[in-house]
Amino acid sequence: MKNRVVCYFSASQSEQPIVYQLIKNYDLVVNILKANINPQKEGYLVVELEGSKKNYEDGIGYLKNLGIELEPLSETVVWEEDICIQCGACASFCPTQALSIERESMMVSFDNCKCVVCGMCLDCCPTRAIKLYFEVPEAV
Ligand code: SF4
Ligand code: SF4
Repeated sequence: MKNRVVCYFSASQSEQPIVYQLIKNYDLVVNILKANINPQKEGYLVVELEGSKKNYEDGIGYLKNLGIELEPLSETVVWEEDICIQCGACASFCPTQALSIERESMMVSFDNCKCVVCGMCLDCCPTRAIKLYFEVPEAV
């Protein structure tokens, strides 16, 4: 399984070699998507963890036992109409019609309410008009 989580850690937890342990002890692939640490050494890490279900759950258990707070990553897709060249490629990939072509005008439009953030459209756009944003509260 593969999942993205936000790990909030304190100054003492930031000293722990958590990425190393997740790889070595739980055989997880760890992809660091974003990291932030303040001068007090508190911060967060946005990681994608991939491995067997058991290893994933054991790895999450390891983080929780350290007292690290975990939250599922909130993601959203943004369509930048200004740089869209209306090529229509994205609409053919989108399984929910969130990106679709209006038949009469042949114009592409985006309906955020229909988007399930599957990511299918992200790589097909020649102008990078479709972007994935991570929503991480800056509370730490
Ligand atoms: S992320 Fe998936 S559902 Fe959302 S617009 Fe792209 S292809 Fe459609
Ligand atoms: S693939 Fe990109 S440029 Fe083409 S219609 Fe979709 S958003 Fe616009």
